[in-house]
Amino acid sequence: MVDKERADDLGPGNLIGVHALVWGRSWGTVEALNAIEASARVGFDVVELPMFDPDVLDVASVRTCLDGSGCKATCSLGLPFDADVSSTDFGVARRGEALLRRVVEAAAAIGADFVGGVFYSALGKYSARPSARNWEQAVGALRRLSDFAASYGVTLGLEVVNRYESNLVNTAGDALRMLDGVARPNVVIHLDSYHMNIEERDMVQPVLACGARLGYVHVGESNRGYLGAGSADLLSLFGALRQVDYRGTITFESFSAASAPPDLIGTLAIWRDLWDEAEPLAQHALATIRSFLQVAKPAA
Ligand code: MN
Repeated sequence: MVDKERADDLGPGNLIGVHALVWGRSWGTVEALNAIEASARVGFDVVELPMFDPDVLDVASVRTCLDGSGCKATCSLGLPFDADVSSTDFGVARRGEALLRRVVEAAAAIGADFVGGVFYSALGKYSARPSARNWEQAVGALRRLSDFAASYGVTLGLEVVNRYESNLVNTAGDALRMLDGVARPNVVIHLDSYHMNIEERDMVQPVLACGARLGYVHVGESNRGYLGAGSADLLSLFGALRQVDYRGTITFESFSAASAPPDLIGTLAIWRDLWDEAEPLAQHALATIRSFLQVAKPAA
């Protein structure tokens, strides 16, 4: 439940979320309902539902569950290589655009107004640098998708990911350039501390560069495990978020081989069992994010 007093006290009104795959290794309607209930029970404001395949969810039950839980939903996905909108293969790109329109429709149907992730390219390791045509393909697809999404009241978040997960947008600078190309008001930048820790100079400059165009944040450790058990400079990140007066959602993302879905284990190289039990991990993440927001709060 959103606790107004708590939000006012701790941060600039940010909602705190958790990625639903923290709660289980397979994904379908039953798992989604479980993830929503568990996220609400721990005290998160938002649960981020994966939309790799929007057809696996019974949107009516998911929406009913969300409405009763007090949790808001956001959605995220990465495209497969056979539906890559940056591809110069027309059939592949068209498959990607069709999939993304179904994702937007499903997101809107469950009441989510945000879809983030890697949908400007495939999610995975490319074997070559992108060409100018790949970039233009992606920009064109995103322009069409953002117009489609606007009619549903959905905002799109371009997630900046590391070099092993896309060849197109690896830094906030890349995302800003893509945003300029797309030039639509309902497209924002989605930063993730795990990826920033690999590709950016520090945790501050990218946030300042994005400024008001930052619309969604993933908080993840350098090893994607427990917050604080890696080398990501989260304190600096939260300081920077405060500096730009970031009011958006902050979502915890973590993967452990013990819990991740088999497909994602290969794509994201999740080889290690960083944790076994989801609930203590999620409780710890929520408390840690709240404390970072508290520390980042300006002196009264
Ligand atoms: Mn992420």
